[in-house]
Amino acid sequence: NILMKAENVSKLYQMGEVTVAAAKNVDLNIYKGEFVVVLGPSGSGKSTLLNILGGMDLPTDGKVFMEGEDITSYNDRKLTAYRREKIGFVFQFYNLMANLTARENVELATEICKDALNIDEVLEAVGLGDRKDHFPAQMSGGEQQRIAIARAVAKNPALLLCDEPTGALDFETGIKILTLLKEINKKYNKTVVIITHNVPIGEMADRLIKMRSGEIIEDKINDSPINPE
Ligand code: ADP
Ligand code: ADP
Repeated sequence: NILMKAENVSKLYQMGEVTVAAAKNVDLNIYKGEFVVVLGPSGSGKSTLLNILGGMDLPTDGKVFMEGEDITSYNDRKLTAYRREKIGFVFQFYNLMANLTARENVELATEICKDALNIDEVLEAVGLGDRKDHFPAQMSGGEQQRIAIARAVAKNPALLLCDEPTGALDFETGIKILTLLKEINKKYNKTVVIITHNVPIGEMADRLIKMRSGEIIEDKINDSPINPE
């Protein structure tokens, strides 16, 4: 049951005389309900892949399908709608609105969504049931990331794309955030793709994809992912 498919995707940058291949002939199926971690060192092409899957960037070659539709054929208007409706983004630095409460941050993101989930339920699910009316500055990094996750999930997107979601957090808080993303994956049957250079995060994946120099060098199911309490 394929959600997304990347077919022979390449992204080339021309830097004067030099061509940089940020993605090289990437073939990838993402199946519905998967919990995937894309692991690779800085410069290996993770962000490039995430930006292409998220409709923020177009490949120079190849095609990308979401639910069977070729998003590389979309114009800007359709790509904007695609990002809004199909993708929930979680970033390293949360990207919250400082002047809005936790609840209002989630509310704002869901306003234009057709199938949004119940905001209070999602805030409960991320463990912020009693912090809904607090502002981001009153909350810890881990809590702010919980708001960001609630904001992405409440849109009820087809795919959650997380870009170094633990990158600004200490190790223990990072593990808690990963655990939450896993709970969300199971509870809402949401497909989750996380990119990171953090090896221990990779060990929590159900499926681990390793990248080097714009290529997928390994793609395997993890039979015994670490699932902390
Ligand atoms: P990662 O997310 O794994 O750090 P990136 O996808 O950001 O990797 O980058 C992959 C490669 O593509 C790197 O060599 C990077 O320098 C290059 N690259 C990324 N974006 C650009 C750009 N806009 N212009 C030129 N080169 C780029
Ligand atoms: P608008 O400008 O109307 O918000 P966008 O297409 O810019 O429309 O944004 C749609 C969605 O895509 C938003 O949820 C936003 O968070 C996300 N998004 C847009 N641009 C980027 C980007 N460069 N990196 C990550 N996420 C982005």
